[in-house]
Amino acid sequence: MNVRDSEHMIAELNKKEPYELTVELSDADLIIINTCSVREKPVAKLFSEIGVFNKHKKEGAKIGVTGCTASHLGKDIIKRAPAVDFVLGARNVSKITEVVDKKHAVEIATDFDESSYDFGEYRSNPFKAMVNISIGCDKTCTFCIVPATRGEEISIPSELIISEITKAVNTGAKEVMLLGQNVNNYGRRFGTSEEVCDFTQLLQKISLIDGLERIRFTSPHPLHMDDTFLHEFATNPKICKQIHVPLQSGSTSLLKAMKRGYTKENFLNRCAKIRNLCPEATISTDIIVGFPSESDADFEETMDVLEQVRFEQLFSFKYSPRPHTEAADFDNQIDNALSGARLTKLQARHTEILDEIMVKQMGAVHKVYFDELKANGRVSGRSDDGKLFFVEGSEELLGKIVDVKVTKVSRGALDGVLV
Ligand code: SAH
Repeated sequence: MNVRDSEHMIAELNKKEPYELTVELSDADLIIINTCSVREKPVAKLFSEIGVFNKHKKEGAKIGVTGCTASHLGKDIIKRAPAVDFVLGARNVSKITEVVDKKHAVEIATDFDESSYDFGEYRSNPFKAMVNISIGCDKTCTFCIVPATRGEEISIPSELIISEITKAVNTGAKEVMLLGQNVNNYGRRFGTSEEVCDFTQLLQKISLIDGLERIRFTSPHPLHMDDTFLHEFATNPKICKQIHVPLQSGSTSLLKAMKRGYTKENFLNRCAKIRNLCPEATISTDIIVGFPSESDADFEETMDVLEQVRFEQLFSFKYSPRPHTEAADFDNQIDNALSGARLTKLQARHTEILDEIMVKQMGAVHKVYFDELKANGRVSGRSDDGKLFFVEGSEELLGKIVDVKVTKVSRGALDGVLV
């Protein structure tokens, strides 16, 4: 989502005057640090980065801080780092052209509605597009700062989504990634009959777009994975067979304390349904270890879900107390060393599982969509189920979907040959 926000900022700036991206800090007239605030570490990094940028930047170059940390720290960023010229919150991306010329402008309102704003067009990869389908988040997960930084959830009207995807397809994108904090909660607030459209219906409408071959989305919420949606996922040939099912914890009592709205059993049931309806699908997840009061037994419940579902991809984090969240004030915060040990154990077991999964890929054939030219005559792309592939080749492969046979397996990626 932050990558997409960055693309939107570039597009908007380009409406005003032409900007070019540079990798040379000393060439830049404008430096934008687009931040996350989900965990504390990136926030700490922000201020050291501002220092480095300020020291090495060109005379007169501007520095802007945008994104979720901008939303929640606001003008304090300028107080602490006066070298910062403007601060723009995650819900105010469309105002980039206003703040860029105002010294010490701060635009961070989390009730600003840009759900029907017509952003300029810019894609960092010509072969695939990211498209927001909702902004904000209506959940009350007790660990999560996102609702405080991105505001309430608003779905983007389906005709705008369709028109944005159609434009992207007409300029070379065969794949779209639909973005939202809870994509499968799409349309919850739509009132009138012309508006009514849930996520499953949206997927059906999008898959009618001629020339669009692949649809991905992130993140769906386990609570909203009803049978109709899972059936659409499994049977619609344009929907890529890769699904993120964020667990957070395998312990039902911790899930309750996190206000996730599902139990361990509900979660396992949804994953079993996916495996059953669509055995070729890969499942990824997010797990937090060391949430307040997590006991050894709670943690073992998480390990048990890992064993049962055997996720193809795991994003795992130590719990990080965040401002504006309930859990930051919970008793029984877990000792950092204990959280660290649990994270190591979880990741080590997942690595073993992943090695077992990947080794079975040797010789398998996947349809790979090539979208990036690498160094040394290699081209990369992804299979329908999200695996990263590398083959020998040239730019002629870019934008094509080709059968590839796996010749070498490693944990994060596969080498292959065209067949
Ligand atoms: N709406 C998305 C979450 C986006 S944040 C979803 O429900 O999937 C991405 C991930 O960061 C979360 O799934 C969670 O695993 C992690 N996360 C969020 N808050 C956190 C915190 N306070 N400490 C550690 N990890 C956190």
